[in-house]
Amino acid sequence: MTSLLTKPAAHSSRLWMPERVLFTPAALDQPWGQQILSRVQALNLPIEELPQNRLSGLRGDSERETYQIAKRTLAVVTAPPSHFKLSPIPPSADWQFHLAEGCPAHCQYCYLAGSLQGPPVIRVFANLPQILENLATYERPGTATTFEVSCYTDPLGIEHLTGSLAECIRYFGTRRNAHLRWVSKFDAVDELIDLPHNGHTRCRVSVNAAPVSGRFEGGTASVASRLQALRKLALPHSQGGGGYPVGIVIAPIMLIDDWELHYTQLFDEMSTTLDFSCDLTFELISHRFTPKSKEVLQTWYPHSKLDMEEEKRSVKRNKFGGTKYVYDTDDMKTLRRFFEREIARRFPEARILYWT
Ligand code: SF4
Repeated sequence: MTSLLTKPAAHSSRLWMPERVLFTPAALDQPWGQQILSRVQALNLPIEELPQNRLSGLRGDSERETYQIAKRTLAVVTAPPSHFKLSPIPPSADWQFHLAEGCPAHCQYCYLAGSLQGPPVIRVFANLPQILENLATYERPGTATTFEVSCYTDPLGIEHLTGSLAECIRYFGTRRNAHLRWVSKFDAVDELIDLPHNGHTRCRVSVNAAPVSGRFEGGTASVASRLQALRKLALPHSQGGGGYPVGIVIAPIMLIDDWELHYTQLFDEMSTTLDFSCDLTFELISHRFTPKSKEVLQTWYPHSKLDMEEEKRSVKRNKFGGTKYVYDTDDMKTLRRFFEREIARRFPEARILYWT
């Protein structure tokens, strides 16, 4: 008999282990920094205390080498004062906040390319309790306020090193009207199952069709494994699961060859794995890039086959004069119709939060 917690075989990602863990003096002064120190000591990772609070010495001889050094480095720092002034993040949530910046995975379309400054070191914040305390000032009285914590990192991908996602979930479980949202391409959720979340955290996984995830999402868990993790999070407590509200983010949706066939197979996999009733949402994000993200991605992944030809796209301008390259209107309509139809057919109780 199949266990309630597992469906067909999937490959877990190995937990990411940095080659170096750097601590700033300010991070070591923080109790949460000491908690992270105990975790990385227990994992026998090489630890260095920096002489100052600024990160330095992380550049290689080329951008590519800098990328490789950075992606193998965890830096434990304190979030600067700018992190205490939150920005809205429509359509995903009311506000974004950050427990870290940078991500150990290697997605060739990475959303962080061009949005973070400096080498893509994984910086985790030792002053998490203060970051969480600050959120209360952004809650709207008497109505739900949502907070997204995965804009600049994959919080689950570094959870074994920080414990910070669990701390956020516990914190939101104590709030009357504040709700947490996070998304991941990793799968190590066992430590999250028994947390007192009080229904205030929506856990999401980001998935894609096999040719996209197989070719462009280095260092992540397989899609099957992400879906199994979501299953564990969504199953009721009485069946050994976490009883969380959950979500699936299909992103970035790409017009690959035979896209309809590949995305249908992805929907088959989702239907098989989530074969029970649960509080489920979908977010649908088509592939886009900016001149800056393209430039950065081409230095990080010079041999990538990712399609970023401007001539094949429509230009979308924002109110600040920024430019994005998106699929043209007809392609967008065709894609959107397909995804909305499949979701309505297979998950009639699920809500689609947005298409973009
Ligand atoms: Fe970038 Fe997200 Fe992939 Fe991490 S998981 S490399 S943040 S796209």
